Amino acid sequence: MSELQALLARFEGLCPPSASLPPFVAQAGEGGPFHVVLCCMTHGDETGSLPAAIALLESLQKGTRRFAGRLSVVLGNPPAARLGRRFGQADLNRVFLPGPPSWERSRAAELMPLLDQADLVVDLHQTIEATAQPFHIHPWSPVLEQWAQVLQGAQDWVTRPMGESFATGTCCLDEYVRDQGKAALTIELSQKGMRPQTTALALAVMDRALDAAEAILSGSDLGNMTSGATKMRLWRTSHKQPYASAELRLRAGLRNFEPVQAGELLSAPGTSELRAPCPGVLLFPKYPPRDAAGQIDGPLPVDIFRVLTPLRQHPLALGWPTGAP
Ligand SMILES: [Zn+2]
Repeated sequence: MSELQALLARFEGLCPPSASLPPFVAQAGEGGPFHVVLCCMTHGDETGSLPAAIALLESLQKGTRRFAGRLSVVLGNPPAARLGRRFGQADLNRVFLPGPPSWERSRAAELMPLLDQADLVVDLHQTIEATAQPFHIHPWSPVLEQWAQVLQGAQDWVTRPMGESFATGTCCLDEYVRDQGKAALTIELSQKGMRPQTTALALAVMDRALDAAEAILSGSDLGNMTSGATKMRLWRTSHKQPYASAELRLRAGLRNFEPVQAGELLSAPGTSELRAPCPGVLLFPKYPPRDAAGQIDGPLPVDIFRVLTPLRQHPLALGWPTGAP
């Protein structure tokens, strides 16, 4: 049995059979009125947070850690994980809305009632390519900024005004939760895969989420927990380069948060020229797998890279909406 199969079996052992819960959802805690939902493997091959989820649940089960609130831990897409894939029929992180049927659309539908009862959702992802550092990726609001500072999962935050969609016509898991007026954050922990640093970071974020929830349950204010916290570095997507044709290729070795200069050549030698249109850092450079003939297997990604630039001023100064969550 592979390490992943063994961990999935261990996680399943932590999910007592329940008529009211979907599969691959574990619950713990003493049931106080603050519900933390931690999501792992919303993309099947982003398995890095799984060992942390199991460690947290086991410590709660053994009683070496306690939590006065209610905790749910969701493994989003174990069938895709078993195949080593991001998803099976549809990207689970795009289908939290009505649309054509797929395994993932049904999974989203069965998770919605649970997400509807959440007070805080933390969706733990990993990037496809290497990343120089972990980062948040979701819209800005004062409450989400406070949570990001409390969780300390990353100092960098790729953000946008609330109400601006990540991908038009789709709905991500965290977007669905925010649409219900609840706090939901997405953190990209590291490049995909299980590694000790990722486990440690995921576990630290999970622990801080529970500690903060418990503090709220005993009457503390989230805002007071952020005094002295490190400021977030906020980034805005300034450019998305369309993956206009399959022959486009990036030069080797570009990673997330790679600094680029205006005009810098980003294409592989001998392929159509791609240059950074402005200075900044790269996000989501794409190297889709190709067969021996160089053909890309499956649909082309929407963009081949994005360029982030630092937000010039704090969102409050820029007049971004401050509504809940
Ligand atoms: Zn992901």
